[in-house]
Amino acid sequence: MIGAARFRTHTAHGAAEVVGQSVRVAGWVHRRRDHGGLVFIDLRDRSGILQLVFHPGEAGEAHAIAGRLHLEDVVSVTGRVAARSEETVNPRIPTGRVELMVESIERLAAADPLPFSVEDEGTEPSEELRLTYRYLDTRRPRRLAALELRSRVISSIRRVLDGEGFLEVETPMLTRSTPEGARDFLVPSRLQRGEWYALPQSPQLFKQLLMVGGIERYYQIARCFRDEDLRADRQPEFTQLDLEASFVEPEDVQSLIESVLEAAFACAGVALPTPFPRMTHAEAMARYGTDRPDLRFGMEITDWSARAAASGFGVFEKAVAAGGVVRGLVVPGAGAGLSRKDGDGLMAEAVDLGAKGLVWAIVTDECGVRSPVARFLEGLPADLGAGPGDLIVLVADAEDVAQGVLGTLRGRYAMRWGMVADGWAPLWVTDFPLVEWNADERRWDPLHHPFTAPHPEDVGLLATDPGRVRSVAYDVVINGLEIGGGSIRIHDRDVQQAAFAAIGIGAEEAEAKFGFLLRALRLGAPPHGGIALGLDRLVMILAGMSSIRDVIAFPKTATGQDPLTGAPSDVDPRQLRELGVRPAG
Ligand code: ASP
Repeated sequence: MIGAARFRTHTAHGAAEVVGQSVRVAGWVHRRRDHGGLVFIDLRDRSGILQLVFHPGEAGEAHAIAGRLHLEDVVSVTGRVAARSEETVNPRIPTGRVELMVESIERLAAADPLPFSVEDEGTEPSEELRLTYRYLDTRRPRRLAALELRSRVISSIRRVLDGEGFLEVETPMLTRSTPEGARDFLVPSRLQRGEWYALPQSPQLFKQLLMVGGIERYYQIARCFRDEDLRADRQPEFTQLDLEASFVEPEDVQSLIESVLEAAFACAGVALPTPFPRMTHAEAMARYGTDRPDLRFGMEITDWSARAAASGFGVFEKAVAAGGVVRGLVVPGAGAGLSRKDGDGLMAEAVDLGAKGLVWAIVTDECGVRSPVARFLEGLPADLGAGPGDLIVLVADAEDVAQGVLGTLRGRYAMRWGMVADGWAPLWVTDFPLVEWNADERRWDPLHHPFTAPHPEDVGLLATDPGRVRSVAYDVVINGLEIGGGSIRIHDRDVQQAAFAAIGIGAEEAEAKFGFLLRALRLGAPPHGGIALGLDRLVMILAGMSSIRDVIAFPKTATGQDPLTGAPSDVDPRQLRELGVRPAG
């Protein structure tokens, strides 16, 4: 063990292995109890907790010191490890069969009263408070365990990739914009006044240049920066496992990532089933209404358009006549006990998500339906394969609206009605569209980034019908969460030009922004592809946490602030002058 014997010879956990021996341990005063002269202290270090016993007679001066200790004081203690008597064994902690009979103690540092308890149990302090004192927060065993898991996951990833001949290469933090669809963080240059670096949104272009540079297999645990409006669980800086390889097909990247994820999940004691199923984007959208379906449950979207068109129900008939669809979900058993009011609630929820309405129906014992519009729903249960007690919901709308709404409802209903099985359901979603329509700007935007290769069969459509071009892009999804995404890249300059043109980047702009890439593509660029995994999210799900902030040592709040250091903060006007930057306002 690294560490000076002056402070400790064993960790708390290690001490428990050497009953009968004299040891020195060091750590924090986690709890203290006085029992008629006997003082018990739970000593905590990273390995766990060890009970210290101070006998008034035997521990002498140590006993007196123990009486004056405060919670979270740092101490170094010598004593003999003793087995506890059967009645005093504590089965709740791994060291619960032993205790340390203290001989001497040294207080290495004193702690003021704490702003909150470092116990896992009890009320959770506000996030603001926890982040202001993040170093106290990480003393809590659960938080510490998450950071330990993160470290083990990263080591396991490195082992797999090192074994496959990948080189770990660092790429610059001060660079030019690398478009991934977000705003850049900009850094003013003092030496080149008036000019700016961008912090990388990803190492995308550098890793491609590494392939042109003959590296063949690259990876990096890469920090990425994206100045997005903070919604949900985003951080302005986050970590990706970023990798790229030359002379590969999508399947090569995919099976490599399956090995990486297998190793990462093993760190949490989970045997991940491989190979992962694969599904095209079109299929995922049709069956599940989302490009990241949660396959822990079925409940696929079904089509009732043909029947609905002749149902006599005006809403349905109109929708289909206008080129729309009537699609639905069957939620097994969810109809039992559902009231009319509940039904209204389901409708309101769908409207909230952007549907014009929702029809609900409960399958009766006779396989008819109970519904406000029951008379228009003849044959519905049989058509959709629903049985007595099942809930059926139908949405009539344009196809993308109906699919999107039902995709979201599918996930919510599965949670609400307890249909989500335990376990892990990974899959690959492939063949994403290359571009998507940006209605505000009235142009095509890349769905991933502009360096993604179009499907070889669709290259001809780039100039004429970009919306129909599929890409050689793939995402890995686990339990409905996107864990990562990548693609085969364009390695031909003309195709890259055509791809730029399709998203409205003309030759001149392409040259100005990406001339360095275009030049490289003419100097012997091998076919290549890669992927990036969101490391924070991966560790979050492995740790069973609900926010990536729980697995980042020093995260920012949802408003992008760091209450610990006070960043972002004012700077000295002189610094701004040197940079040639005028203060805002
Ligand atoms: N650079 C991409 C991203 O950050 C991943 C990739 O295409 O490898 O999402």
